[in-house]
Amino acid sequence: MGIIKLLAPEVVNQIAAGEVVERPVSVVKELLENAIDAAATQITVVIEDAGLKEIRVIDNGMGMTGEDAELAIARHATSKIRNAGDLDRVATLGFRGEALAAIASVSRLTLITRTAEMIAGTRIVVEGGEKKQVTSIGCPHGTQVIVRDLFFNSPPRRKFLKSIQAEKAAVADLLSRFALGYPEIALNFYSGKRLSLATPGQAEPIEIACILYGKEAKDNFLEIFYEGEGVRIRGIVSKPQFTRASRHYQTFFVNRRLVRNYHLSRALESAYEGLVTSGHYPCVAIYLDLEPKTIDVNVHPTKSDIRFADPALVARALYRAVRNTLANYQTQRRLSHQL
Ligand code: ADP
Ligand code: MG
Repeated sequence: MGIIKLLAPEVVNQIAAGEVVERPVSVVKELLENAIDAAATQITVVIEDAGLKEIRVIDNGMGMTGEDAELAIARHATSKIRNAGDLDRVATLGFRGEALAAIASVSRLTLITRTAEMIAGTRIVVEGGEKKQVTSIGCPHGTQVIVRDLFFNSPPRRKFLKSIQAEKAAVADLLSRFALGYPEIALNFYSGKRLSLATPGQAEPIEIACILYGKEAKDNFLEIFYEGEGVRIRGIVSKPQFTRASRHYQTFFVNRRLVRNYHLSRALESAYEGLVTSGHYPCVAIYLDLEPKTIDVNVHPTKSDIRFADPALVARALYRAVRNTLANYQTQRRLSHQL
Protein backbone atom coordinates (compact mmCIF):
# COMPACT_ATOMS: atom_id res chain seq x y z
CA MET A 1 0.00 0.00 0.00
CA GLY A 2 1.41 3.34 -1.01
CA ILE A 3 1.44 6.15 1.51
CA ILE A 4 1.13 9.00 -0.98
CA LYS A 5 -2.37 10.36 -1.54
CA LEU A 6 -3.70 13.17 -3.70
CA LEU A 7 -5.06 15.95 -1.50
CA ALA A 8 -8.76 16.81 -1.61
CA PRO A 9 -9.50 19.92 -3.71
CA GLU A 10 -10.60 21.94 -0.61
CA VAL A 11 -7.23 21.28 1.01
CA VAL A 12 -5.36 22.19 -2.17
CA ASN A 13 -7.34 25.44 -2.32
CA GLN A 14 -6.60 26.32 1.28
CA ILE A 15 -2.89 25.75 0.81
CA ALA A 16 -2.87 27.84 -2.35
CA ALA A 17 -4.94 30.54 -0.67
CA GLY A 18 -2.12 31.01 1.81
CA GLU A 19 -0.01 32.45 -1.00
CA VAL A 20 -2.59 34.79 -2.47
CA VAL A 21 -4.47 35.87 0.63
CA GLU A 22 -2.01 36.86 3.30
CA ARG A 23 -4.00 39.62 4.96
CA PRO A 24 -7.21 41.62 4.47
CA VAL A 25 -5.38 44.01 2.15
CA SER A 26 -4.59 41.11 -0.21
CA VAL A 27 -8.33 40.45 -0.60
CA VAL A 28 -9.04 44.11 -1.28
CA LYS A 29 -6.29 44.22 -3.90
CA GLU A 30 -7.60 41.16 -5.78
CA LEU A 31 -11.19 42.41 -5.74
CA LEU A 32 -10.17 45.88 -6.88
CA GLU A 33 -8.15 44.37 -9.72
CA ASN A 34 -11.14 42.30 -10.79
CA ALA A 35 -13.36 45.39 -10.80
CA ILE A 36 -10.81 47.28 -12.89
CA ASP A 37 -10.45 44.36 -15.32
CA ALA A 38 -14.25 44.42 -15.63
CA ALA A 39 -13.94 48.02 -16.90
CA ALA A 40 -15.71 49.55 -13.91
CA THR A 41 -15.87 53.36 -13.76
CA GLN A 42 -17.14 53.40 -10.17
CA ILE A 43 -15.85 51.22 -7.37
CA THR A 44 -16.85 51.29 -3.72
CA VAL A 45 -14.82 49.49 -1.07
CA VAL A 46 -16.14 49.03 2.46
CA ILE A 47 -14.23 47.36 5.28
CA GLU A 48 -15.43 46.50 8.79
CA ASP A 49 -12.84 45.79 11.48
CA ALA A 50 -9.96 46.30 9.06
CA GLY A 51 -11.61 43.80 6.72
CA LEU A 52 -11.56 40.91 9.16
CA LYS A 53 -15.28 41.10 9.78
CA GLU A 54 -16.24 42.18 6.30
CA ILE A 55 -14.83 43.42 2.99
CA ARG A 56 -17.28 44.58 0.36
CA VAL A 57 -16.28 45.67 -3.14
CA ILE A 58 -19.00 46.96 -5.44
CA ASP A 59 -18.37 47.81 -9.08
CA ASN A 60 -20.39 48.95 -12.08
CA GLY A 61 -18.33 46.84 -14.48
CA MET A 62 -19.43 44.24 -17.01
CA GLY A 63 -20.76 41.73 -14.47
CA MET A 64 -21.12 38.01 -15.10
CA THR A 65 -23.78 35.65 -16.36
CA GLY A 66 -24.96 32.98 -13.90
CA GLU A 67 -22.89 30.36 -15.66
CA ASP A 68 -19.73 32.46 -15.53
CA ALA A 69 -20.32 33.44 -11.92
CA GLU A 70 -20.30 29.77 -10.91
CA LEU A 71 -17.08 29.21 -12.82
CA ALA A 72 -15.47 32.37 -11.45
CA ILE A 73 -15.19 30.86 -7.99
CA ALA A 74 -13.55 27.69 -9.30
CA ARG A 75 -9.79 27.43 -9.13
CA HIS A 76 -7.80 28.13 -12.31
CA ALA A 77 -10.89 29.53 -14.03
CA THR A 78 -10.30 32.79 -15.85
CA SER A 79 -11.68 34.77 -18.77
CA LYS A 80 -8.39 36.65 -19.16
CA ILE A 81 -6.01 34.16 -20.75
CA ARG A 82 -6.66 31.07 -22.84
CA ASN A 83 -3.26 29.42 -23.23
CA ALA A 84 0.36 29.64 -22.16
CA GLY A 85 1.19 31.90 -25.11
CA ASP A 86 -1.19 34.52 -23.71
CA LEU A 87 1.10 34.88 -20.68
CA ASP A 88 3.42 36.88 -22.96
CA ARG A 89 0.77 39.47 -23.68
CA VAL A 90 -1.27 39.80 -20.52
CA ALA A 91 -3.21 43.05 -20.80
CA THR A 92 -5.34 42.58 -17.67
CA LEU A 93 -4.35 42.77 -14.02
CA GLY A 94 -5.60 39.25 -13.34
CA PHE A 95 -4.67 36.13 -15.29
CA ARG A 96 -4.06 33.39 -12.72
CA GLY A 97 -7.71 32.57 -12.17
CA GLU A 98 -7.23 31.84 -8.50
CA ALA A 99 -8.15 34.90 -6.45
CA LEU A 100 -11.87 34.29 -6.05
CA ALA A 101 -11.35 30.58 -5.35
CA ALA A 102 -8.61 31.37 -2.84
CA ILE A 103 -10.62 34.05 -1.04
CA ALA A 104 -13.74 31.84 -1.00
CA SER A 105 -11.79 29.00 0.59
CA VAL A 106 -10.78 31.07 3.63
CA SER A 107 -13.94 33.13 4.20
CA ARG A 108 -17.71 33.31 3.82
CA LEU A 109 -18.09 34.84 0.39
CA THR A 110 -21.16 36.18 -1.36
CA LEU A 111 -20.97 37.08 -5.03
CA ILE A 112 -23.79 39.13 -6.54
CA THR A 113 -23.50 39.96 -10.21
CA ARG A 114 -25.42 40.87 -13.34
CA THR A 115 -24.44 41.76 -16.89
CA ALA A 116 -26.21 44.67 -18.58
CA GLU A 117 -28.00 42.23 -20.94
CA MET A 118 -29.39 39.87 -18.29
CA ILE A 119 -32.70 40.69 -16.61
CA ALA A 120 -31.94 38.86 -13.37
CA GLY A 121 -28.66 38.71 -11.54
CA THR A 122 -27.04 35.79 -9.73
CA ARG A 123 -26.19 35.41 -6.07
CA ILE A 124 -23.75 32.75 -4.96
CA VAL A 125 -22.82 31.97 -1.36
CA VAL A 126 -19.64 30.04 -0.60
CA GLU A 127 -18.37 29.11 2.85
CA GLY A 128 -14.83 27.89 3.35
CA GLY A 129 -14.72 26.88 -0.30
CA GLU A 130 -18.05 25.02 -0.22
CA LYS A 131 -20.80 26.31 -2.46
CA LYS A 132 -23.89 26.75 -0.27
CA GLN A 133 -26.41 28.54 -2.42
CA VAL A 134 -27.03 29.83 -5.92
CA THR A 135 -30.09 32.02 -6.44
CA SER A 136 -31.51 34.51 -8.88
CA ILE A 137 -31.63 38.05 -7.61
CA GLY A 138 -32.59 41.54 -8.74
CA CYS A 139 -29.52 43.81 -8.64
CA PRO A 140 -27.86 46.66 -10.49
CA HIS A 141 -25.52 45.64 -13.30
CA GLY A 142 -21.99 45.07 -12.18
CA THR A 143 -20.57 42.96 -9.40
CA GLN A 144 -20.60 43.00 -5.65
CA VAL A 145 -18.35 40.71 -3.64
CA ILE A 146 -18.82 40.43 0.11
CA VAL A 147 -16.14 38.64 2.08
CA ARG A 148 -17.04 37.92 5.71
CA ASP A 149 -15.09 36.35 8.55
CA LEU A 150 -11.77 36.14 6.74
CA PHE A 151 -9.63 33.20 7.95
CA PHE A 152 -12.51 31.86 10.10
CA ASN A 153 -11.33 28.37 9.15
CA SER A 154 -7.60 29.03 9.36
CA PRO A 155 -6.92 30.19 12.92
CA PRO A 156 -3.10 30.20 12.52
CA ARG A 157 -3.34 32.83 9.77
CA ARG A 158 -5.62 34.95 11.90
CA LYS A 159 -3.24 34.75 14.82
CA PHE A 160 -0.30 36.06 12.83
CA LEU A 161 -2.04 39.18 11.58
CA LYS A 162 -0.80 42.55 12.75
CA SER A 163 -2.98 44.87 14.85
CA ILE A 164 -6.37 46.02 13.56
CA GLN A 165 -4.81 49.46 13.18
CA ALA A 166 -1.97 48.16 11.01
CA GLU A 167 -4.31 46.09 8.82
CA LYS A 168 -6.57 49.10 8.37
CA ALA A 169 -3.62 51.31 7.46
CA ALA A 170 -2.47 48.76 4.88
CA VAL A 171 -5.88 48.84 3.18
CA ALA A 172 -6.01 52.65 3.25
CA ASP A 173 -2.52 52.76 1.75
CA LEU A 174 -3.51 50.39 -1.05
CA LEU A 175 -6.60 52.46 -1.84
CA SER A 176 -4.58 55.66 -2.11
CA ARG A 177 -2.18 53.97 -4.51
CA PHE A 178 -5.01 52.66 -6.67
CA ALA A 179 -6.55 56.14 -6.64
CA LEU A 180 -3.30 57.47 -8.13
CA GLY A 181 -3.10 54.58 -10.56
CA TYR A 182 -6.66 54.92 -11.83
CA PRO A 183 -7.61 58.59 -11.66
CA GLU A 184 -10.30 57.95 -14.27
CA ILE A 185 -12.22 55.69 -11.87
CA ALA A 186 -14.45 57.15 -9.13
CA LEU A 187 -13.29 55.35 -5.99
CA ASN A 188 -15.06 55.45 -2.65
CA PHE A 189 -13.48 53.86 0.36
CA TYR A 190 -15.30 53.46 3.67
CA SER A 191 -13.69 52.17 6.82
CA GLY A 192 -16.76 51.33 8.89
CA LYS A 193 -19.21 54.17 8.34
CA ARG A 194 -16.46 56.69 7.69
CA LEU A 195 -15.79 57.73 4.11
CA SER A 196 -12.02 57.93 4.19
CA LEU A 197 -11.21 58.44 0.51
CA ALA A 198 -13.31 59.63 -2.40
CA THR A 199 -12.09 60.42 -5.88
CA PRO A 200 -14.30 62.04 -8.51
CA GLY A 201 -13.37 59.89 -11.52
CA GLN A 202 -12.10 61.30 -14.83
CA ALA A 203 -9.37 63.13 -12.90
CA GLU A 204 -5.68 63.76 -13.53
CA PRO A 205 -3.00 62.27 -11.28
CA ILE A 206 -2.18 65.71 -9.86
CA GLU A 207 -5.80 66.15 -8.71
CA ILE A 208 -5.57 62.84 -6.88
CA ALA A 209 -2.28 63.98 -5.30
CA CYS A 210 -4.12 67.06 -4.00
CA ILE A 211 -6.79 64.86 -2.43
CA LEU A 212 -4.12 62.68 -0.82
CA TYR A 213 -1.47 65.22 0.17
CA GLY A 214 -3.43 68.45 0.48
CA LYS A 215 -3.97 71.39 -1.87
CA GLU A 216 -0.35 72.53 -1.69
CA ALA A 217 0.56 69.46 -3.76
CA LYS A 218 -0.59 71.40 -6.82
CA ASP A 219 2.49 73.66 -6.72
CA ASN A 220 4.89 71.01 -5.57
CA PHE A 221 4.79 68.44 -8.33
CA LEU A 222 6.31 68.38 -11.79
CA GLU A 223 5.07 66.34 -14.72
CA ILE A 224 7.43 63.93 -16.40
CA PHE A 225 7.24 62.49 -19.89
CA TYR A 226 9.63 60.30 -21.81
CA GLU A 227 9.38 58.08 -24.84
CA GLY A 228 12.10 55.99 -26.42
CA GLU A 229 13.51 52.49 -26.83
CA GLY A 230 10.10 50.92 -26.35
CA VAL A 231 9.43 52.61 -23.01
CA ARG A 232 6.90 55.33 -22.35
CA ILE A 233 6.98 57.11 -19.02
CA ARG A 234 4.50 59.58 -17.61
CA GLY A 235 3.86 60.74 -14.11
CA ILE A 236 4.21 63.32 -11.42
CA VAL A 237 7.29 63.76 -9.25
CA SER A 238 7.69 66.14 -6.33
CA LYS A 239 9.98 69.13 -6.49
CA PRO A 240 13.19 68.49 -4.55
CA GLN A 241 11.96 70.66 -1.67
CA PHE A 242 8.73 68.63 -1.27
CA THR A 243 10.11 65.45 0.26
CA ARG A 244 9.15 63.05 3.04
CA ALA A 245 11.27 61.16 5.50
CA SER A 246 10.16 57.84 4.01
CA ARG A 247 9.97 56.05 0.67
CA HIS A 248 6.34 55.39 1.34
CA TYR A 249 5.05 58.03 -1.08
CA GLN A 250 6.47 56.45 -4.19
CA THR A 251 4.11 54.54 -6.41
CA PHE A 252 4.99 52.82 -9.66
CA PHE A 253 2.69 51.32 -12.25
CA VAL A 254 3.97 49.20 -15.09
CA ASN A 255 1.39 48.62 -17.81
CA ARG A 256 -1.08 49.88 -15.21
CA ARG A 257 -0.08 47.27 -12.69
CA LEU A 258 0.89 48.50 -9.22
CA VAL A 259 4.40 47.16 -8.66
CA ARG A 260 7.28 47.36 -6.29
CA ASN A 261 10.51 47.06 -8.15
CA TYR A 262 14.06 47.50 -7.03
CA HIS A 263 15.36 48.82 -10.36
CA LEU A 264 12.69 51.51 -10.52
CA SER A 265 13.21 52.69 -6.94
CA ARG A 266 16.96 52.89 -7.44
CA ALA A 267 16.74 54.80 -10.72
CA LEU A 268 14.37 57.27 -9.10
CA GLU A 269 16.68 57.85 -6.19
CA SER A 270 19.71 58.39 -8.37
CA ALA A 271 17.76 61.00 -10.35
CA TYR A 272 17.27 62.97 -7.13
CA GLU A 273 20.85 62.48 -5.96
CA GLY A 274 22.44 65.70 -4.78
CA LEU A 275 19.07 67.48 -4.80
CA VAL A 276 17.52 66.14 -1.60
CA THR A 277 19.10 65.76 1.82
CA SER A 278 19.89 62.21 2.80
CA GLY A 279 17.05 60.42 4.57
CA HIS A 280 14.54 62.42 2.55
CA TYR A 281 12.65 60.98 -0.39
CA PRO A 282 10.53 62.41 -3.17
CA CYS A 283 6.81 61.68 -3.55
CA VAL A 284 6.03 60.28 -6.99
CA ALA A 285 3.41 58.49 -9.04
CA ILE A 286 5.05 57.10 -12.16
CA TYR A 287 3.40 55.20 -15.00
CA LEU A 288 5.55 53.11 -17.30
CA ASP A 289 4.23 51.46 -20.43
CA LEU A 290 6.24 48.75 -22.15
CA GLU A 291 5.61 46.03 -24.69
CA PRO A 292 3.93 43.25 -22.64
CA LYS A 293 6.43 40.72 -23.96
CA THR A 294 9.32 42.66 -22.39
CA ILE A 295 8.02 42.09 -18.87
CA ASP A 296 7.25 38.95 -16.90
CA VAL A 297 4.21 39.49 -14.70
CA ASN A 298 4.06 35.94 -13.45
CA VAL A 299 6.72 36.23 -10.75
CA HIS A 300 4.69 35.81 -7.58
CA PRO A 301 1.09 34.82 -6.71
CA THR A 302 0.38 38.33 -5.39
CA LYS A 303 1.59 39.82 -8.72
CA SER A 304 3.25 42.73 -6.93
CA ASP A 305 6.67 42.43 -8.54
CA ILE A 306 7.49 41.97 -12.21
CA ARG A 307 10.66 41.19 -14.11
CA PHE A 308 11.97 43.34 -16.92
CA ALA A 309 13.69 41.62 -19.83
CA ASP A 310 16.14 44.55 -19.81
CA PRO A 311 16.09 46.24 -16.39
CA ALA A 312 19.04 48.50 -17.23
CA LEU A 313 17.22 49.98 -20.21
CA VAL A 314 14.11 50.73 -18.16
CA ALA A 315 16.16 52.18 -15.29
CA ARG A 316 18.04 54.43 -17.71
CA ALA A 317 14.82 55.69 -19.27
CA LEU A 318 13.32 56.45 -15.85
CA TYR A 319 16.49 58.19 -14.70
CA ARG A 320 16.48 60.40 -17.80
CA ALA A 321 12.78 61.20 -17.54
CA VAL A 322 13.11 62.38 -13.95
CA ARG A 323 16.56 63.92 -14.11
CA ASN A 324 15.76 66.04 -17.19
CA THR A 325 12.58 67.38 -15.64
CA LEU A 326 14.34 68.23 -12.38
CA ALA A 327 17.25 69.87 -14.23
CA ASN A 328 14.86 72.05 -16.27
CA TYR A 329 13.04 73.03 -13.15
CA GLN A 330 16.25 73.99 -11.32
CA THR A 331 17.40 76.08 -14.29
CA GLN A 332 14.10 77.91 -14.50
CA ARG A 333 14.16 78.56 -10.79
CA ARG A 334 17.64 80.01 -10.98
CA LEU A 335 16.66 82.23 -13.89
CA SER A 336 13.56 83.54 -12.16
CA HIS A 337 15.64 84.36 -9.07
CA GLN A 338 18.07 86.34 -11.22
CA LEU A 339 15.32 88.48 -12.74
P1 ADP B 1 -8.46 36.27 -12.61
O1 ADP B 1 -8.76 37.70 -12.26
O2 ADP B 1 -7.01 35.95 -12.50
O3 ADP B 1 -9.04 35.84 -13.92
P2 ADP B 1 -10.20 35.66 -10.38
O4 ADP B 1 -10.34 34.45 -9.53
O5 ADP B 1 -9.85 36.92 -9.70
O6 ADP B 1 -9.13 35.32 -11.50
O7 ADP B 1 -11.55 35.86 -11.19
C1 ADP B 1 -12.03 34.80 -12.01
C2 ADP B 1 -12.90 35.33 -13.16
O8 ADP B 1 -14.12 35.86 -12.63
C3 ADP B 1 -12.28 36.48 -13.93
O9 ADP B 1 -11.44 36.00 -14.97
C4 ADP B 1 -13.51 37.21 -14.46
O10 ADP B 1 -13.97 36.63 -15.65
C5 ADP B 1 -14.55 36.96 -13.39
N1 ADP B 1 -14.67 38.13 -12.45
C6 ADP B 1 -14.12 38.23 -11.22
N2 ADP B 1 -14.44 39.41 -10.65
C7 ADP B 1 -15.22 40.07 -11.53
C8 ADP B 1 -15.87 41.36 -11.53
N3 ADP B 1 -15.77 42.18 -10.48
N4 ADP B 1 -16.61 41.69 -12.61
C9 ADP B 1 -16.73 40.84 -13.67
N5 ADP B 1 -16.12 39.63 -13.73
C10 ADP B 1 -15.38 39.23 -12.69
MG1 MG C 1 -8.51 38.47 -10.37
